[in-house]
Amino acid sequence: MNKPTITSTGINGTKPLETAKTTSSATTVIETDLLIIGAGPAGASLACFLAQHGLKGIMLAATPSTADTPRAHITNMAALECLRDIGLEEECMKVAVTGECMQHTRWCRSMAGEEFARIYSWGNDPVRMGDYDAASPCKHVDIPQTVLEPILVHHATHNGFSCRFDTSFLSFQSEPLGTIVSKVQDNLTKHTYEIRSKYLFGFDLSHAIENRIGNLHWVMRPDEEQPAFGWTAIVRMVKPWNEWMFILFPAPGAGVDFSPSPEEYLSCIKTMVGDDSLPVKILGISKWFINEIVAEYYSDGNIFCLGDAVHRHPPLNGLGSNTCIQDAYNLAWKIAYTMKGKANPSLLDSYNLERQPVGASIITRANQGLRDHAPVWEALGMMDPCLSVRKKLFTELSEATPEGVARRQKLQTAIEGTAHEFHGVGVEMNQRQQVASRMAQYPVSWETILND
Ligand SMILES: Cc1cc2nc3c(=O)[nH]c(=O)nc-3n(C[C@H](O)[C@H](O)[C@H](O)COP(=O)(O)OP(=O)(O)OC[C@H]3O[C@@H](n4cnc5c(N)ncnc54)[C@H](O)[C@@H]3O)c2cc1C
Repeated sequence: MNKPTITSTGINGTKPLETAKTTSSATTVIETDLLIIGAGPAGASLACFLAQHGLKGIMLAATPSTADTPRAHITNMAALECLRDIGLEEECMKVAVTGECMQHTRWCRSMAGEEFARIYSWGNDPVRMGDYDAASPCKHVDIPQTVLEPILVHHATHNGFSCRFDTSFLSFQSEPLGTIVSKVQDNLTKHTYEIRSKYLFGFDLSHAIENRIGNLHWVMRPDEEQPAFGWTAIVRMVKPWNEWMFILFPAPGAGVDFSPSPEEYLSCIKTMVGDDSLPVKILGISKWFINEIVAEYYSDGNIFCLGDAVHRHPPLNGLGSNTCIQDAYNLAWKIAYTMKGKANPSLLDSYNLERQPVGASIITRANQGLRDHAPVWEALGMMDPCLSVRKKLFTELSEATPEGVARRQKLQTAIEGTAHEFHGVGVEMNQRQQVASRMAQYPVSWETILND
């Protein structure tokens, strides 16, 4: 059942696709129950979870292959639990960098230079370890997206999903009986064809979104002039210890329209490394924007969206790819139970009800995580546009004066203020404000709640 078939040929899945190419695009319709747009963490993990229930389908990706930039890396316990459920945790652990290598986040002048502060991260704070052990049998690990996606795609394609890269989803049309016809294009031949499916997953339901607003070392040198495109940076390990990603933040108010030359990038990065003797080679450069955006609804009939298509936010707290996997896990068993007649289709409504509020909470947390860094920048003297003022404030930090004591206290408080980013076990495990929902149900006073 569910095997892709080409209806224009009348032969159930036995006719090769090459034959379909000779037919006019208007009459070429591939039939499948499940069509997933995207082979990123959301699409590929959904295919894996659906395959676990014995379901088959097609997964498309506009890109020629899996991720070519190692964007996501912090893989949290909730996501690993989902992958454990389908037997993939072990494979992930073989390629993961484990907790000991991600114990701290640091603030420093350069990778080799003076350290300003550090904070325990990702469940490694001795005071918080018990919370993490109690919350999950899994532990945080570091798996670059470039490594995780091939594992997911390999698993999905070996368990019932056909994956077609270099194939773009163009549009869809719902049919009266509930099926959906999607128009797709092979990017190499420009040949377009149609895929009829019972369910469609993952594409960007951007019409649902009304407004689009907008192991880690923070490197900053308040007492020096910085290039506007690289005001500060998060330097993040990709492979221990010779491949790194530099997430450059532009100076406040400097806009985003920069086109630094490779030499300018190289010079900026060398300064941030702080050791001229190390050879540096740039492997790739890409641009991304900070968003704070969640779709108002994740599903419409038999069309379901997940992943970055419905929630976009900065990488603070490392919630993006992790939430994609958890969205997919939530959806897959419901689809399977509905398709197999084990559950009423109304079960599918619970996907949006359960996951949309999680999306709203992660975009809020991730953006708050970024905002929580502003007091650190402030305490280090980064925020003043005038270099001489920045020098004075930064020097103050190490002075044995009342002002120095006050500034160090300010920095300490600011660093502590970032703790929710690095030990946000609740949001990582998809927990939300219980007090708020209880308030909504029982309008009692704060005193009553606190006295309970
Ligand atoms: C610098 C950085 C660091 C990050 N760090 C973390 C982290 O530590 N932890 C974490 O959990 N997350 C992190 N993230 C977020 C994470 O990368 C994203 O949340 C994740 O990639 C989203 O997965 P996705 O599958 O929804 O979308 P994507 O990864 O964007 O994949 C989209 C897929 O859809 C396909 N596609 C798009 N349009 C079409 C079309 N028209 N037709 C066919 N296919 C199409 C693409 O080819 C691709 O396969 C980070 C992001 C950045 C930028």
